[in-house]
Amino acid sequence: MRFPFSSALVLFMFPLFAGCAVPAPMSPAASPGSPTPAAPPPAAPGEGGTLRIIAFGAHPDDCEIKAGGTGALWAGQGHQVKFVSLTNGDIGHWQSAGGPLARRRFEEVEKAAKMLGVTTQVLDIHDGELMPTLENRRKVTRLIREWKADLVLAPRPNDYHPDHRYTGILVQDAAYMVTVPFFCPDVPHLEKNPSFLYYSDGFQRPNPFRPDVVVDIDPVLQKKLDALGIMKSQFFEGGANGTQALLASDEAGRARRDREVSEGFARRFRQTAENYRSKLADLYGDDRARKVTAAEAFEVCEYGNQPSKEELKKLFPFFSGN
Ligand SMILES: [Zn+2]
Repeated sequence: MRFPFSSALVLFMFPLFAGCAVPAPMSPAASPGSPTPAAPPPAAPGEGGTLRIIAFGAHPDDCEIKAGGTGALWAGQGHQVKFVSLTNGDIGHWQSAGGPLARRRFEEVEKAAKMLGVTTQVLDIHDGELMPTLENRRKVTRLIREWKADLVLAPRPNDYHPDHRYTGILVQDAAYMVTVPFFCPDVPHLEKNPSFLYYSDGFQRPNPFRPDVVVDIDPVLQKKLDALGIMKSQFFEGGANGTQALLASDEAGRARRDREVSEGFARRFRQTAENYRSKLADLYGDDRARKVTAAEAFEVCEYGNQPSKEELKKLFPFFSGN
């Protein structure tokens, strides 16, 4: 543990940072490489069409933490959102591991997905063992193509967790290849390169996160908190760094722990709004920006389509004047 918090706080906070961690056959969606039925081409973004967004995380909870609010906002407008976890999360608990934990975590993200209105898929790669291999580059490329994505979200490759870093690398590695016809020719390439954006983080080296888009998630904050709240293995129980002490034996204690988790997340999303309030003001105007209590932020990746400010407003159709 390298985070400078008091031990009591550490117990609670680490799993939030860890935020971190099911086998392909468990997913209702097509596994990478499997044939998918032909889907009609998506309408052009922002022209009355439906946006198609695919978000990647290393573990079954990463996408929900980083983009659960924005995902719910898109879904609420009828856009198609998919959350993909590249590993199955099978070491993300202090008390259990392996298949039973992977299955439990898959069930958690499925419940969260229903609450948020998104589709979810978890790949069968062991937690803690994700590598930036050619095989995995192909998997990510196929997933982006199969979803016919307009927009792809991923962590930056600067992160304390190797699985997060390699998720960032794998998505970056796919950012151009999704357009190359003879790379993975079994899945039709994308003729228009999607825009790729990173989730926010606090890492400073070699370069800090830069907010290009900050989204007011107040309208769906409770939904996001509820979705994270049902992921008990990670937050209520503390995930890989939890302890027995977190497991209250009585109902009052469990309710207290639920509140603690919810309030911790609310503080965290409020901090994102505080950190990037000037960007909120750019996007929403001063009046609304002042009132925002929870936000999610994203940075445009240098690879893939480079969206103009106007294009960003079409991809994130939440700002005043849209
Ligand atoms: Zn994670």
